Amino acid sequence: RIVVVGSSNIDMVAQVSHIPAPGETVGNARFIQSFGGKGANQAVAAARLGGSVTFVTALGNDMYADILKKHFTEEGINTNYIIDDSHHPTGTALIYVANSGENCIAVAPGANYSLLPESITQFSEIIEEADIVVMQAEIPYETIKKTALLAKQKGKKVLFNPAPACLIDEELMTTIDILVVNELEASFISGIEYTENNLDDIAQALLRSGARNIVITLGSQGVYMMNERETIQLPSFKVKAIDTVAAGDTFCGALAVTCSQKGISREALSFANAAAAIAVTRLGAQSSIPTLVEVNAFIQT
Ligand code: ADP
Repeated sequence: RIVVVGSSNIDMVAQVSHIPAPGETVGNARFIQSFGGKGANQAVAAARLGGSVTFVTALGNDMYADILKKHFTEEGINTNYIIDDSHHPTGTALIYVANSGENCIAVAPGANYSLLPESITQFSEIIEEADIVVMQAEIPYETIKKTALLAKQKGKKVLFNPAPACLIDEELMTTIDILVVNELEASFISGIEYTENNLDDIAQALLRSGARNIVITLGSQGVYMMNERETIQLPSFKVKAIDTVAAGDTFCGALAVTCSQKGISREALSFANAAAAIAVTRLGAQSSIPTLVEVNAFIQT
């Protein structure tokens, strides 16, 4: 059983010939609306990849709340612990993407910031039922910390993906079983600049600060993991990358599924690496996340 505590966003994307300058109107945009938010992406990834998922998130006072609940239910996710925030809109990301690939984004967290520590305390029974609790950094830090401490107290695993990058205090760090970071987040949190030769130093610093398994995703270079016993590095699967949006989220959702029962292993990392590789061959966020059948078929070829 996997409990994801995190954000939900509606992504409003305008594909434009160029990013409008202040005061300028671009009239030939193409509009695409999709479901995003790192929490929602990871919950959907874990569910499609065979996990039994409960998603704790806060949705706003607009039509998107119902649309998203229906969507999560269709993905097989337990939506009984979704919080309705009557004071704020559902989280929204307003995104311009130019033909050149350049983008420009404003995120309005809205209801995501109403996911407060008190809500988690009320829901402590779902933590009780969980094998692993999965979080990202698009909700209030205090909520992340409260949830992680509660999970630890109940002997549950915690997977934390501090994205967007945030500093992690010692008390939170020591609750983390699996810390999943990309190179930038790893540098930011460890305070050590990333070069191709110092992954070991960065991972050791993060291990010393208290997390037990440090997983560093390296984009097209694959993935690296260090814990007290071993260091594993896997190259990425060779694919034609067209859009890396949600690659990291697919990776985290997949890793949560494989680590929820057993601990971290080469096989678990390889499964997540494969799921994320498929995601980069497809456009969009949740639309790019593969199913278990697709990942198994991909691994066998
Ligand atoms: P984020 O999107 O969070 O920065 P990364 O870029 O590190 O994360 O990508 C996460 C994972 O996605 C990688 O560890 C790898 O498994 C997979 N991935 C990303 N880019 C590629 C690529 N070009 N080819 C194959 N796999 C990729």
